Amino acid sequence: MKFEQRIPRDTSARLFAEAQEYFPGGVNSPVRAFRSVSGPPLFIREGHGSHMTDVDGNRFLDFCCSWGPLIHGHDNAHIRERVIETVRRGTSFGTPTQMGNRLGKLILDNHRYVERIRFVSSGTEAVMSALRLARGVTGKTKILKFEGCYHGHVDQLLVKAGSGLVTFGTSSSAGVPESVARDTQVLPLGDRDLLEQTLTDHAGEIACIIVEPIPANNGLLIQDKSWLECLRLKAYKHDVLLIFDEVISGFRVGFEGAAGYYDVQPDIITFGKVIGGGFPVGAYGASKEIMDYIAPVGPVYQAGTLSANPVAMTAGLAALEQCLEPGFYEGMAERTHRMATAIADYATERGYPLHVPHIGSIFWLAFGRERIERADQIDPANMEYFKIIHHELLQTGVYLGPSGYEVGFVSSAHTDTDLQTAIAKICAAMDVAFDG
Ligand code: PMP
Repeated sequence: MKFEQRIPRDTSARLFAEAQEYFPGGVNSPVRAFRSVSGPPLFIREGHGSHMTDVDGNRFLDFCCSWGPLIHGHDNAHIRERVIETVRRGTSFGTPTQMGNRLGKLILDNHRYVERIRFVSSGTEAVMSALRLARGVTGKTKILKFEGCYHGHVDQLLVKAGSGLVTFGTSSSAGVPESVARDTQVLPLGDRDLLEQTLTDHAGEIACIIVEPIPANNGLLIQDKSWLECLRLKAYKHDVLLIFDEVISGFRVGFEGAAGYYDVQPDIITFGKVIGGGFPVGAYGASKEIMDYIAPVGPVYQAGTLSANPVAMTAGLAALEQCLEPGFYEGMAERTHRMATAIADYATERGYPLHVPHIGSIFWLAFGRERIERADQIDPANMEYFKIIHHELLQTGVYLGPSGYEVGFVSSAHTDTDLQTAIAKICAAMDVAFDG
């Protein structure tokens, strides 16, 4: 298929060529390079509400939302004004600030699954610190993770399943020593017997099980509540800690994230994205007892020059206050459900192999007709369809993350009209992909 550009992309193309001189692959994070979709990446100039505009003047209805943080859309007035006010008083002190207290209090007052929290500056840092904490608390080394879950670029988690399912993992990135990868066991999601067998075989060695309770980095692999309950019970039984990586789901599917959505209590929760209101913030939280292992109280060291930066704390506070408005999450879920169902119904009527898994305000364009719960159920050949859909949507003014494995996000800035527009354009793009 030829991907004819009907929108101007010259300025983006020029800037991308220039960026190759500065950054590996012209980018500062790999998926941004548009390697699996058509054309150069768009250089975005500004965003307001549900839309953003690129340097060539093209305007897009945005469902990437900066990969999840922008739950209130771009340039949210409340966040913007509070941030500007904070910046006027200085941007970083390297001391405790009242803003940190206020965000900490707001979270702990409204989240029943954590008693203490520590702010860091990214999701990766949150996960890395949570792993160290789990190892510090248990005195054990090995980690159990699941295929199809992404946890940031932490060495021990850039690991794929070894050749046999019950062998320990092999590295999936150069630069991660096999000696590190060997401490990580990778299992398929949902295999309860294998989980039990692995925990039994490695009794006394495994510090923690880490899972995305709503896996949203390899498509949207919505799990059954009973699977999360199973993880909880097995973790208790085998004396390992259960970590929910809620960098995406936290404050997204509800204020209490997936823990609250499914009412399953993990031992440690990691946060990122929404918690920072569009600024670099991550966090991890747990019971007071577990968090007391962290320095300066306990022996597990973790620190950060810009941790709990007051500007970022202000943005997080302004974002989360709006999430606590009555009916906020219900409204978002309802509107996302309506959009997802309309697209899926259209596909069904026409016999297109596409369905739209969704939860809260997260959705995914899934190819095929069967429910997908594990990474190995995704057929990579279908990504050709995504490429066409992505291209068509860019031409008609809708921006999805540039990979068919990425989920989409609806924000509170998306109006009903925006969603109607998106439905029409996504359906038209499907016509091109499947009928064209
Ligand atoms: N965990 C999960 C579940 C994530 O989705 C991500 C980022 N997509 C991370 C960790 C890493 O977060 P960051 O990119 O902020 O380092």
